[in-house]
Amino acid sequence: MRSHYCGQLNETLVDQTVTVCGWVHRRRDHGGVIFLDMRDRDGVAQFVVDPDTAEAFANADRARSEFVLRITGRVRLRPEGTQNPNMPTGMIEVLAKDVEVLNTAVTPPFQLDEHGKVGEEVRLKHRYIDLRRPDMIDKLRLRSRISHTVRAFLENQGFLDIETPVLTRATPEGARDYLVPSRTHAGSFFALPQSPQLFKQLLMVAGFDRYYQIAKCFRDEDLRADRQPEFTQIDIEASFVEEDDIMAITESMIRQLFKEVLDVELAAFPRMTWQEAMDRFGSDKPDLRIPLELTNVDDLMQQVDFKVFSGPANAADGRVAALKVSGGASLSRKEIDEYTKFVGIYGAKGLAWIKVNERAKGLDGLQSPIVKFMENVVEELLDRVDAKDGDIIFFGADKTRIVNEAIGALRVKLGADLDLYTQAWAPLWVVDFPMFEEDDNGRLSPLHHPFTAPSCSPEALKNDPANALSRAYDMVLNGTELGGGSIRIHDQTMQRTVFDILGIGEEEAQEKFGFLLDALQYGAPPHGGLAFGLDRLVMLMAGAKTIREVIAFPKTQSAACLMTDAPGEVSSEQLKDLNIRLRQKAKADTTVE
Ligand code: ASP
Repeated sequence: MRSHYCGQLNETLVDQTVTVCGWVHRRRDHGGVIFLDMRDRDGVAQFVVDPDTAEAFANADRARSEFVLRITGRVRLRPEGTQNPNMPTGMIEVLAKDVEVLNTAVTPPFQLDEHGKVGEEVRLKHRYIDLRRPDMIDKLRLRSRISHTVRAFLENQGFLDIETPVLTRATPEGARDYLVPSRTHAGSFFALPQSPQLFKQLLMVAGFDRYYQIAKCFRDEDLRADRQPEFTQIDIEASFVEEDDIMAITESMIRQLFKEVLDVELAAFPRMTWQEAMDRFGSDKPDLRIPLELTNVDDLMQQVDFKVFSGPANAADGRVAALKVSGGASLSRKEIDEYTKFVGIYGAKGLAWIKVNERAKGLDGLQSPIVKFMENVVEELLDRVDAKDGDIIFFGADKTRIVNEAIGALRVKLGADLDLYTQAWAPLWVVDFPMFEEDDNGRLSPLHHPFTAPSCSPEALKNDPANALSRAYDMVLNGTELGGGSIRIHDQTMQRTVFDILGIGEEEAQEKFGFLLDALQYGAPPHGGLAFGLDRLVMLMAGAKTIREVIAFPKTQSAACLMTDAPGEVSSEQLKDLNIRLRQKAKADTTVE
């Protein structure tokens, strides 16, 4: 139907006859001449319809915003003075000969140019209109380019694209499962995969050696910022590899991707242990663009007569950390109050601070509600954080977890608020994770997933699980976890030991993961892999603020689709087929008959 996309029209086509199909972006009536800006996925171009072409003129006259037209005409240079060098098609216009209305459109719920005036809800409800915006098209185009580049890289490296099932059994990755009731097996349920983890491991047992898949994963998580219940992973696994092999392949994949798509050369990624990341940045995904660091001051605060600090400083599970911000003494009382509220979100009970107005004046040069409690250590403290006039020092004192989360988040917020970034891209690897984390009741759960290999023997693991390290690695970019993976357990005894430590008894292990344990007996090769969150990768590369912006049809924070109204109710016949009866009170809650 067309010869060109609108966005392809330019001066090289002057005097040629072209046909485009697209949407009316804008229509202007200039007393006798109608200007139509026509839009398609490639851009916008200007068409001029004059009354000499009567039929074309009549059609252009009745066209409105978002009508679908097919226009044929001759490309000509725009008259001097009306050219727009900021538009790729801005040097030319098309003098229309034929204008055909392919479809009409009712008034859209928002004008594309005015999308900012309506809430995200309206945009999500009419996503097909929102997706007409050039900005959205660009992001999805970038996404397509990224997937393509990744596929090409992995295929080149001998990875095979193999699909794994979506209707399957639970694969634990730390979230709730989405369940699908089975009609043919009354009372039984499939789980949608939280990841293809177990299948990719089984493909290694089968001998495929190198696997990848751009896979949909499903996690029924509690509402947390910027998560989607279904999301996409670049899932990778390889056999006869160690940590360095997987890290080398995937790092060069990301470096090549940035080079090809953004023309950005990333330097070799530094490696940092999990412990160092927590100590220096309070986070296992440190944003290294921000030149602020947490400094341990436990030893100093053990000596002060101030319970709020000496308590955590002396406690085994406590921490007192200082965060110096150069030039931060100019923060106002109100701003500090806001930061105090901010750290409260992470459970911090307050935010102590010292402003260094004039170091040479000793205590008199400091301004702080707490300095009077620590006069005996203040000089040493200032030396340790290398405080200069004009700096502010914030403190976190609490359980280590709270200090890390609160002051780690404060560090990131200050970096953004004060625009402290030193570089555009700061990738790194975080390694040497603990195998397990302990909840408040002393129960251990895997920091990655229960198939991650520990760095020690089964005996050593059994003796001191809380201090065991794993062979896991995370790739972090600008404070976001881009991907994570590990060398896996390929030995049945080790796998049973881990299940044991997690309190998964033999019977339960057999019931849930019997197929994996079986497979491990049949010659499982050493193997490992990694999965990248594609949505987050695209978000970062597109400079988008949320992953919703780089997903064509995302769900809301409450895991619903405003456009299709999913999840929706189903008919009683369907429920009957599935052997499901809904409880009267909580309809969403299902009980199996
Ligand atoms: N299955 C893991 C995840 O989804 C990734 C991996 O270990 O390869 O996070």
